[in-house]
Amino acid sequence: IMFATLSDRLADTFKNLRGKGRLSEADIDATAREIRIALLEADVALPVVREFVAAVKERATGAEVSQALNPAQQIVKIVHEELVTILGGETRRLRYAKTGPTVIMLAGLQGAGKTTLAAKLALWLKEQGKSPLLVACDLQRPNAVNQLQVNGGRVGVPVYAPEPGNAGGIEHGGNPVQVAQASIEEAKRKLHDVVIIDTAGRLGIDAELMQQAADIRAAVQPDEVLFVVDAMIGQDAVTTAQAFLDGVGFDGVVLTKLDGDARGGAALSVRSITGKPVMFASSGEKMTDFDLFHPDRMASRILDMGDVMTLIEQAEKAFDADEAAKAAAKMGAGQFTLDDFLKQMQQLRKLGSMTKLMGMLPGMGQFRDQLENFDEREIDRVQAIIQSMTPAERENPKILNGSRRLRIANGAGRTVTDVNSLVDRFGEMQKMMTQMMSGGGMPGMPGMPG
Ligand code: GDP
Repeated sequence: IMFATLSDRLADTFKNLRGKGRLSEADIDATAREIRIALLEADVALPVVREFVAAVKERATGAEVSQALNPAQQIVKIVHEELVTILGGETRRLRYAKTGPTVIMLAGLQGAGKTTLAAKLALWLKEQGKSPLLVACDLQRPNAVNQLQVNGGRVGVPVYAPEPGNAGGIEHGGNPVQVAQASIEEAKRKLHDVVIIDTAGRLGIDAELMQQAADIRAAVQPDEVLFVVDAMIGQDAVTTAQAFLDGVGFDGVVLTKLDGDARGGAALSVRSITGKPVMFASSGEKMTDFDLFHPDRMASRILDMGDVMTLIEQAEKAFDADEAAKAAAKMGAGQFTLDDFLKQMQQLRKLGSMTKLMGMLPGMGQFRDQLENFDEREIDRVQAIIQSMTPAERENPKILNGSRRLRIANGAGRTVTDVNSLVDRFGEMQKMMTQMMSGGGMPGMPGMPG
């Protein structure tokens, strides 16, 4: 889970302050020291650590803390604000061209996740109502063009690539600058409003690679040059970013593989060191594991205040509002059936893994172990049981006698005990729903099994 190391460390630090009416100088020194260790352990670059700790310490000794009703709480607030600052402050959104297609150029090392990211970005743009075109300018790596075509296919976005035999063609050694230029003409002809240019990467920083990217940049004058970097390489990401900044230049950073980065050093350092904002974050193998990078939400996650905004946005995407209203009405009337339950569960599934979802709720840090051990297959088992029931049984579980239960268990490959426990739990849930709804409060989401 993202930032787990830092989250845990900071939580421990704040625990020591809890309940203290006034903070002594020694308290503040100790807190500053612990925050420093927490950041270093998270692999944050040293200059960034120094700056952060100095800022927190200065504010912690000031009036905003000494006059606060709850000084410990005030320290958490300060750390939150300072985290937002080093993560970049305001969310930096994409700038679109005023006329003609918006040109986005991607640069980064091989293996950074550039090709995957190109497709994720294309899908994201499509969801914003744009009509993107992917462009394959990596003509060095033998399989790169093909890989972009495969990824483009997964998200239903066309890929512009040099045709064998053309001037930009692969067997001529390939001229990525020509391909990039031609792709913009192609975009105009086919009415694409965004062009995403995937450039070549190398395993290491390399002058020729930098020159090629710089040439493409000069030729097509992109609206945004995005530097793509693997967050799992930690502080090395900062070194690589600096090299690309000097060699090619870029406007924003995209962090990939955040799902595999428990520490968060790259995310926390790159803005301060390069002066360029993190614009997007990629956090998984699925094409939808991608979003704008929101510094404030990220800071809240680190401090285990939850990321309710993202949760709501995802829910809005996955849930059909009409269906949800119908389900809510049924719940209130005590008519919510196992069939409705199944539908809700399937919608919930579309949101992504339970572990990820729960991780966005405030205060979940203490349950991290349980969350990581949550067995997603439990949901499959519940689904299988409900799907083995007849429509009449789903409508009215009261008719479930012994032989029906045995048939269902066999059909679902489960035991009768599993069936019994699901039916019992559903009965409890129904009771609770009716009580909640008659009390006037509407639950945002249906209760989960388990
Ligand atoms: P490129 O060489 O920069 O084009 O990198 P690729 O797009 O081929 O990605 C390299 C590897 O990283 C592939 O196996 C991807 O599936 C994987 N990958 C890319 N993005 C992510 C991500 O956000 N999370 C995880 N876990 N894997 C990713």
